[in-house]
Amino acid sequence: MSLKIDSLLIHGGIDGDETTGAVNVPVYQTSTYKQDGLGKNRGWEYSRTGNPTRAALEKLIADLEGGEYGLAFASGLAAINTVLSLFKKGDKLVVSDNIYGGTFRILDNVYKNFDITYKIVDTSDLEAVEKAIDEDVKAVYIETPANPLLTITDIEEVSKIAHKHDKLVIVDNTFLTPYLQRPLELGADIVIHSGTKYLGGHSDTVSGLVAVKDKALADRLYYLQNAIGGVLAPWDSFLMIRGIKTLGVRMDRHVENAGKIARWLQDSGYVQKVYYPGLESDPGYEIQKKQASGAGAMISFVLDEKYDYKKFFEELKLVTLAESLGGVESLVCHPASMTHAAIPADIRKQVGIVDELIRLSVGIENVDDLIEDLKQAIEASEAEG
Ligand SMILES: *Cc1c(COP(=O)(O)O)cnc(C)c1O
Repeated sequence: MSLKIDSLLIHGGIDGDETTGAVNVPVYQTSTYKQDGLGKNRGWEYSRTGNPTRAALEKLIADLEGGEYGLAFASGLAAINTVLSLFKKGDKLVVSDNIYGGTFRILDNVYKNFDITYKIVDTSDLEAVEKAIDEDVKAVYIETPANPLLTITDIEEVSKIAHKHDKLVIVDNTFLTPYLQRPLELGADIVIHSGTKYLGGHSDTVSGLVAVKDKALADRLYYLQNAIGGVLAPWDSFLMIRGIKTLGVRMDRHVENAGKIARWLQDSGYVQKVYYPGLESDPGYEIQKKQASGAGAMISFVLDEKYDYKKFFEELKLVTLAESLGGVESLVCHPASMTHAAIPADIRKQVGIVDELIRLSVGIENVDDLIEDLKQAIEASEAEG
């Protein structure tokens, strides 16, 4: 029977334990496995190479993304590192102009040293994407909505352009999760997640996931996963499976709260600008609606000049100032000094990550409580004089 996504979240991957009937996949906390004779094992040899709890999570993310193969890593960046290891000296990547700061850092300060370089492009501009592709470019790497300005890139159209030139399309789907957006079904080749965020959902586990459709690509990635070794531990794999079971109900509430807060901010008179692709006034609104079933729960905004954004952070009582996003609790951050500090100031300015930008990860608390907290903190931050 083919299950819809909200059932797949609970019953996808490996559903329970065959041996005992336990409804949850056990935590196989083991590094190695007894072999019955030379060259005779029961499908498991060593837990860097494969572990049944991790394998259940890997199958689950493949099912959820509409892929065939999944891989789980110790962090989102371990996943990104492994995917980037597909490339060789001299290769280039076309990269969205606003991406997660850590992704920029590994490209700029690690891979560049191995002569694997990048070109920053506004990937919401399809002509710019096509123009940037040359012989050396091997892949287009996008985030949509992108971090932190929530810019929308058309996954289907970018995939068509990239495939016409025989290039890979890599999508970081952390902000929407497969519950709202499935890039492989839109033509992308590789989906990456920081599972630390919505998939885990409780701000208690750091993890990374990858899903692909193509067998040859999967084989190479499994090879690299084992060769590089940044795998997810059994207990953390269990926590991810546990978190994913409630992803649907959490995302519904996240999106509902975010929509209300974005509209409230826009109408409040407190802000110069609100970035949220679920607002009809947002430039990415139509494409977002076409390719995803919800706009997610990340909002960025710039307060009106009469408010002091530094004071605003200090005045919040319920919303927590912290790195990360996607947990049940609402978090706020200052991209210029936190999540995107790894991006040089001139590039930040060029792409619009101004010092006054505030990024909000809307949680699943009561939305009126959240609005009340934002309102009191903004009012209390009015600059003197
Ligand atoms: C957090 C994040 C990452 C990095 O993931 P970690 O789990 O922190 O290593 C990558 N991409 C996006 C969009 C993120 O938000």
